[in-house]
Amino acid sequence: MSEVGNVNASGMSSNKGKTKKAADSFAPGADILKSWNDVHKALRSEFGETVFRSWLKPLTLQACYHGTLEVSVPTRFMRDWIQTHYAKRILEMCGQKNPEIKRLEIVVVQNMVSLEEAAEKTKPAKSNQNGKGHEAPVLDGQTDPFELASPLDARFTFDSFVVGKPNALAHAAARRVVESAIVPFNPLFIYGGVGLGKTHLMHAIAWELRAKKPEKKVMYLSAEKFMYQFVKALRSNDTMAFKEFFRSVDVLMIDDIQFIGGKESTQEEFFHTFNALVDQNKQIIISGDRAPGDLAGVDERLRSRLSWGLVADIQPSTYELRLGILKAKRDQLQAKVPESVLEFLALKVISNIRELEGALNRIVAHADVAQQEITLETTQDVLSDLLRSHDRRITIDEIQRKVAEHYNIKLGDMHSARRARNVARPRQVAMFLSKQLTARSLPEIGRKFGGRDHTTVMHAVRKVEELVGEDPSFAQDVEVIRRALTG
Ligand code: ADP
Ligand code: MG
Repeated sequence: MSEVGNVNASGMSSNKGKTKKAADSFAPGADILKSWNDVHKALRSEFGETVFRSWLKPLTLQACYHGTLEVSVPTRFMRDWIQTHYAKRILEMCGQKNPEIKRLEIVVVQNMVSLEEAAEKTKPAKSNQNGKGHEAPVLDGQTDPFELASPLDARFTFDSFVVGKPNALAHAAARRVVESAIVPFNPLFIYGGVGLGKTHLMHAIAWELRAKKPEKKVMYLSAEKFMYQFVKALRSNDTMAFKEFFRSVDVLMIDDIQFIGGKESTQEEFFHTFNALVDQNKQIIISGDRAPGDLAGVDERLRSRLSWGLVADIQPSTYELRLGILKAKRDQLQAKVPESVLEFLALKVISNIRELEGALNRIVAHADVAQQEITLETTQDVLSDLLRSHDRRITIDEIQRKVAEHYNIKLGDMHSARRARNVARPRQVAMFLSKQLTARSLPEIGRKFGGRDHTTVMHAVRKVEELVGEDPSFAQDVEVIRRALTG
């Protein structure tokens, strides 16, 4: 089994209680293979392109034993989803093709391809000596399990990616890469803070390429994994296969490149791979937590090479984007969540999108279990710990002090009527942060700023959000102050 990948969880199948033992299974015969192949193809027309691409395409035939057909998917989430939504129909279709098949078992096989296997494949043909006869069958060009090194999350598609100002550039660049007939820029470097959607975009690219250009060998993996595989190859004296394999891909995607910081030999190897692929006009897509030039512990040569193509950033989210994401997520979950609750979350949970999604999931799950309607009150209740960590101890006075300090203006200017830009802007930032970080209402905030009107505060909040979207260095200032206050 280990040749195929780790079986992390045994499938929940219709034959409950029976644990599958590897010894029971045998590789499917040609007729089973053909049946499965036909069914897999028929699924596309039955469920449509989008569903097929997101859920059914990755299904890979693993084995057939005692009337049970075993298929694998790369994630637990996918397995559960397919189990509840499609398994019954798939089994029916299989049964029609081949009456021997009575049960369907869906297992999770992470790492559909181990790199060793992939490297093995690029070596001159050797007889298959593993003797276990349990290779994942290659059904057609499209399901070649060798095209991916890390499993892709079925939820991370372009369809589910909400576009807003902070991520518009990165999104447009990603789309360009999948739509363009040529390599539009090399590399595409996407960077941004934690939980802002880098991995989501990377997976979306990979899914789309799988669907649109199935002949391309797409390789997606984290920098950590790249490093790990490289070190492993070094140890086993097998760097040739490693090199050959990486140089044979058409699209190389490396996530979280910052992890190669300080790892010199990995960087060296990556640099050569990078150059070899660029020379062959193969697309490279990379993500990192900061711009190429700012990567710590990364060789100057590599840093400059990484910024040759298009460098696209993802900015911290805005209120609008957060609200948009929440709405999309609510529709996906088909949950009844009042608008006011979404607005409240978009206002309060600002650190990153992952936490925002987590907050929504929590209140939806809670309402489900408690059989309760979701209201602003239940939301505050369920998320009290989370909200407290955002709200705790932060007062408007404190915010004013920090902001004044940061911009080097007098504290008194927070309350004064002066309208010069150099004091008016920091004052707006302080109002914005007061709205974000405290539970105070707009009129209350206005009062704290020398008795200003609530519309002035609202205007300040909008203005700052707009500037955050437009001006990265301003956004960074705001972020620094926010961190100082909440950290
Ligand atoms: P990163 O790799 O930048 O740390 P991820 O791509 O893992 O972040 O995103 C974190 C979570 O937020 C994921 O569940 C992702 O689907 C979600 N997310 C981020 N940006 C968006 C977006 N624009 N639209 C929808 N979901 C998003
Ligand atoms: Mg990520």
